[in-house]
Amino acid sequence: MGGYFCRAVSETASKPEIRFRGIGVAPGIAHAPVVVHWEVDEEVPVRPISVADLPEEIARFEAVLMATRAEILEMQKRIENAIGARDASIFDAHLLVVEDRTLIDEVLRTIESSRQNVEHVFATVYERYCHTLEQIDDPYLRERVVDIQDVSRRILRHLLGKGPRDFATSENPHILAARILTPSDTSLIDREKVLGFATEAGSKTSHSAIMARSLGIPAVAGLHEIFGALETGDSVLLDGTAGLLILNPGQETLKEYGRIEQRREAVEEQLDLIRDTSSTTRDGQRVVLSANIGLPEEMAEVAECGAEGVGLFRSEFLFLNREDIPTEDEQMAAYRTVAERASPHAVVIRTLDVGGDKLAEAFGPSNEESPFLGCRAIRYCLERPEFFKIQLRAILRASAFGKIRLMYPMISGVGELRRANALLEECKTELSAAGTAFDTSLPVGIMIEIPSAALSADHLAREVSFFSIGTNDLIQYTLAVDRMNDAISSLFEPTHPAVLRLLRTVVDAARAAGIGLSVCGEMAGDVIMTPLLLGLGVREMSAAPPLVLRVKKAIQSLDVESCERLMAEARERDSGEDILHLCEQVARSRYAELLD
Ligand code: PEP
Ligand code: MG
Repeated sequence: MGGYFCRAVSETASKPEIRFRGIGVAPGIAHAPVVVHWEVDEEVPVRPISVADLPEEIARFEAVLMATRAEILEMQKRIENAIGARDASIFDAHLLVVEDRTLIDEVLRTIESSRQNVEHVFATVYERYCHTLEQIDDPYLRERVVDIQDVSRRILRHLLGKGPRDFATSENPHILAARILTPSDTSLIDREKVLGFATEAGSKTSHSAIMARSLGIPAVAGLHEIFGALETGDSVLLDGTAGLLILNPGQETLKEYGRIEQRREAVEEQLDLIRDTSSTTRDGQRVVLSANIGLPEEMAEVAECGAEGVGLFRSEFLFLNREDIPTEDEQMAAYRTVAERASPHAVVIRTLDVGGDKLAEAFGPSNEESPFLGCRAIRYCLERPEFFKIQLRAILRASAFGKIRLMYPMISGVGELRRANALLEECKTELSAAGTAFDTSLPVGIMIEIPSAALSADHLAREVSFFSIGTNDLIQYTLAVDRMNDAISSLFEPTHPAVLRLLRTVVDAARAAGIGLSVCGEMAGDVIMTPLLLGLGVREMSAAPPLVLRVKKAIQSLDVESCERLMAEARERDSGEDILHLCEQVARSRYAELLD
C-alpha cells in the first residue's frame, strides 16, 4: 500500500478543503495534482452522400472496423503482458462489439437508406442501441453499455480521423479523475504516472475496479459530486481504503495522512515478522486461519500471507469475464492447482455462487427484479443438474490430488442439501464406474448465510461435516440491508443483537454435533470483530489474503477468557452500536496499531 503517498505540501493550501465520499474500490493512499478527463462528446458532422459515393462510404466504415479491431487486439496484448491474460480477456467483449453483425448491418442499411455520412449514421445507431440497453434495469447490461460506448467512441474517433483518447496529458505523477473509466482507458494508463483513479460512476465489480486492484492503484468510485468541482491541477488526496477524495487537503490533513502512511508501513513491517508463527491466543488456544480466494493465481498471495490453506475458494470467479463455460477438465485443472499449492493444508471449494451481483456473461443476462432473493447459487445449480454435475465431477476428480473440502452456498434448508448430495452421489457412482480416482470420504459442508439455515442449524448439522458462516449474506438477509446499497450501508451491522443470536445458534449447533465450524465472511477479516468471534467460540476463520496477518496479530494479542467476558457482556446489550463499542474497546486495548 505504501509508496504512492507523496509528502509534498499542498500548493493550494489557501483554498478550502472539501471531502467527497465514494466507494473505496482499490486500497491505498495517493496525493498528487489531479488531471480531469470529463468525456467530451465528439462533434459529429452530418452531410448527404450521393449514390455514387455510397461504396466508398461503406468501404471507409469497413476499413475503420478493421483498424479498430487491430487496435483492440494490440491493447489486449499490452494488458496481457502487463497484468495477465484474465484481465486482458475483458477486451473480448470489445471485440464482440466490432464484430456484431446485427449492428454493423443496421449501420450499412441506414447509410444506404438515409444517404447520410457514415459518422452520423454510426453515432445515431449506436446511441439508440445504448439507450435501449440503459433502460433495462440490469447491472450486467449496464456494464455492457460501458463496453459498447467505449468501442463506439474509438470507432467514431477513427471515422473522424482523430487518434485514440489520450491520457498522456501530464508528464508528472497525477491522480486521474473521470466520469467513468472504461477498460480501454485503464489499459492506456501509465502506472508510473497515474497514482490513483477517481470516478463518478463505477462499483467494486466494474471491470476498471478489478483492473485497478490488479495494477495496485488506489481507486475511489461513486464520487457523484466531483463533476465541476475538480479542475486539472487541483491538489487531491485519494484514500482508496476509506473511499474518500479530499480536494485541497490542508496541512493538518496532509500531516494526518503522512502519519497514517508511516504507521501503516511500520505495522506492515511488524506483521511480516509473524508470517510463519502460529495463530494461537495468549492463553494457548489454537485458531486455524486460512485465506479466501477467487482464482488459482491468488495462491501466490496465500503462500505469502502465511495462511493455513484456503477457507473459501469462490469458484464462480472461474466463470466470470468470459463468454463460455469452463469445461470439466479446465475446472478440474484449476481445483487441482489450488489443492496442490495449498498442501499440506486443505482447500474449501465452494460450488458456483452465481447470481446476486455476480453475473457471468456465459449465463446470459438476468432479468430478476431482486437478484439477491432470486435464482442464486445452489438454486441456480439445482435447476440445472447436468450443468452442476460438471462442477461436482471436476471437484471430485481434483480431490485425488490434495485435501479438498466441498461446500454448497446459499443453502436454506435440508431439502436443497439432500438434492445437491444426491447429485454428488451420482457423480461418485459415474466416476467409480469409469475407474477415475477421487477422495471417497470427501468432506461436504455448507455455507450458513441465510437466516433459515442458521435457525435450523441443528437439523443441518446432522448431515454435513462442517459449516462455514458467510456473514456478508447472513447480515444482509437478517437485517434486510442490501449489501450493495451504499445509501444504507450504516445499517449493515455485524454486531446487531439479532446477528449475534444467529451466530451463537450456529456455533452451538456445530459444537453439539461435533462438526467443523468456520467464519469466512468479511467479519472474519475485521480485527475489531476478532474478540467477538473468539468469545463466541469460533476457532476457524478465513479472510482475504491482505487481512490474514492482521487477524493473526489480533489472535496472538488476545486471550479467550477476556473474549468470553466480552461476549457475556455483549449478550446483555440491546444495541449493535453498544456492542461494537465494546469490541472496539477490547481491540484498542490489545492492538490499537491495527485500527488506524
Ligand atoms: C458471505 O456471504 O459472507 C460469503 C463469504 O460469500 P459471498 O461474499 O461470496 O457472498
Ligand atoms: Mg455469500
